[in-house]
Order: sequence, then structure tokens, then C-alpha cells
Amino acid sequence: MANTKEYIRNRADSKIGKIVVDRDLCIGAASCIAVSGTTYELDGDNKAIVSGADSADDATLIMSAESCPTKAILLFDKDGKQVFPK
Ligand code: SF4
Repeated sequence: MANTKEYIRNRADSKIGKIVVDRDLCIGAASCIAVSGTTYELDGDNKAIVSGADSADDATLIMSAESCPTKAILLFDKDGKQVFPK
């Protein structure tokens, strides 16, 4: 089973309702942090965790997910439909 962590997003101006990090896929490359340092941080296992799910706008959040070399960041809309990766 995938080793994932889910983070609910509550921004009223956002179409994204949930951020999921697949901890098995995350290699600690920190590209996501370079794009959006207010959203993510690395935990003690060198895996990305979401510390600020509402801090970035949608464009920045999508860019951060796109920047991940292993596609470890998945984004879902408020109906639960996966919007990234497509
Ligand atoms: S960019 Fe991807 S692999 Fe790198 S820390 Fe973020 S989630 Fe992990």
C-alpha cells in the first residue's frame, strides 16, 4: 500500500482541496521547497511534509508539484478528483 500523507486545503480562492505526498516516491530533492518554501518542509526522514497547506496560491502549488522529479506530490480538487499528475 502506498505510504501517503494527506493534507486538506481550506483556501476559499483555491480549486485544490487536498495535497497528498507519497513518501515512498519522495527522495528529498527539495525542489518543491525551492518553489514554495511556505508549503513544504523536510522531516527527519528527509521526506517532504506539508506545513502550510493554505499558504500558496494554486499556480504556485501546481508549479511546486510539477517541480518534483518523482511526482511525489499529488493534487486533488474539492470534489476529490485528481488534478495533478494528470
Ligand atoms: S520535490 Fe518531490 S522528492 Fe523532492 S522533497 Fe519535494 S516531494 Fe520530495
